[in-house]
Amino acid sequence: MREQIEKIKEEADQAFRLAKSSEELNRLRVKYLGKKGEMTRVLRGMAHIPPEERPAVGQLANEVKNYLETVLEQRLQALKQEEKERRLAAETIDITLPGQRLLMGRKHPLTQVLDQIKEIFIGMGYAVAEGPEVEYDYYNFEALNLPKDHPARDMQDSFYITDEILLRTHTSPVQVRVMEKMVPRLPIRIIAPGKVYRRDDDATHSPMFHQVEGLLVDRHVTFGDLKGTLLAFAKQMFGDEREIRLRPSYFPFTEPSAEVDISCINCGGSGCRVCSYTGWLEILGAGMVHPRVLEMSGYDPEEVSGFAFGMGVERIAMLKYGIDDLRLLFDNDLRFLTQF
Ligand SMILES: [Zn+2]
Repeated sequence: MREQIEKIKEEADQAFRLAKSSEELNRLRVKYLGKKGEMTRVLRGMAHIPPEERPAVGQLANEVKNYLETVLEQRLQALKQEEKERRLAAETIDITLPGQRLLMGRKHPLTQVLDQIKEIFIGMGYAVAEGPEVEYDYYNFEALNLPKDHPARDMQDSFYITDEILLRTHTSPVQVRVMEKMVPRLPIRIIAPGKVYRRDDDATHSPMFHQVEGLLVDRHVTFGDLKGTLLAFAKQMFGDEREIRLRPSYFPFTEPSAEVDISCINCGGSGCRVCSYTGWLEILGAGMVHPRVLEMSGYDPEEVSGFAFGMGVERIAMLKYGIDDLRLLFDNDLRFLTQF
């Protein structure tokens, strides 16, 4: 019996030391030291040995059991440590690897410029008005003093849907719609931003672009009020050192009418390539609301007067950011857009 116990000791000792994982070690513990394990099986034979030998055999069996349990415990600790080290090694993060940059969204440059235009005019007491993009010929042309046979209609190549309905060619119809709704209340102070459509497509024209229309109607509104308003806008939009210049022009819905220039952003007015050596850059069209337009909308031109202006948002953005091709604004190339 002693030999059997010694044999178990030797076998188990070796098996424990060679175990490759804590699971394997647990299986070995059951095999050698468990209730139905080898050691128990051998000790069952105790009944067949002479009683005087039993205490010595019992003592040996206990010593071997304790010894094996110690070996097993040490091996278990060692294995756990190894397993932990392996896991940590697998989880190691190489902090020298290049990081993944989070892509931050941002507003399109046109939206940024439009927001800024709105902010400037809201600051001067204007409200924001909107109108439909699919518009009646009446609002787009006729109510703006452009009857059917008016030659100035040719200035705006249009997308017609029917003879009487078209994609609006400017945001000016919003003027008429607002006046119709407001009459006879005063004052009217609105800007109307939105998309407009014309049959143009080149480096400085797009078939769809954005305009902001402005309209002020009240008693005693003068051309000086218009100039002061536009100067305040130009300074806030393009910098305090900007000056403006008004050149006589023609629009069917304003009289008198003017093209409005700002002193060149690039050279400040001394003349450069950007301004074609004139020192000035055109930014918008404006004028006093034509008496016929006031009349058609229900206001008495003898009693009230007003001014209107219209600007292209793309043009403002191109000037502000020095963009030379309008199409860049619509290509949605992130390399371009993320610069703003
Ligand atoms: Zn210049």
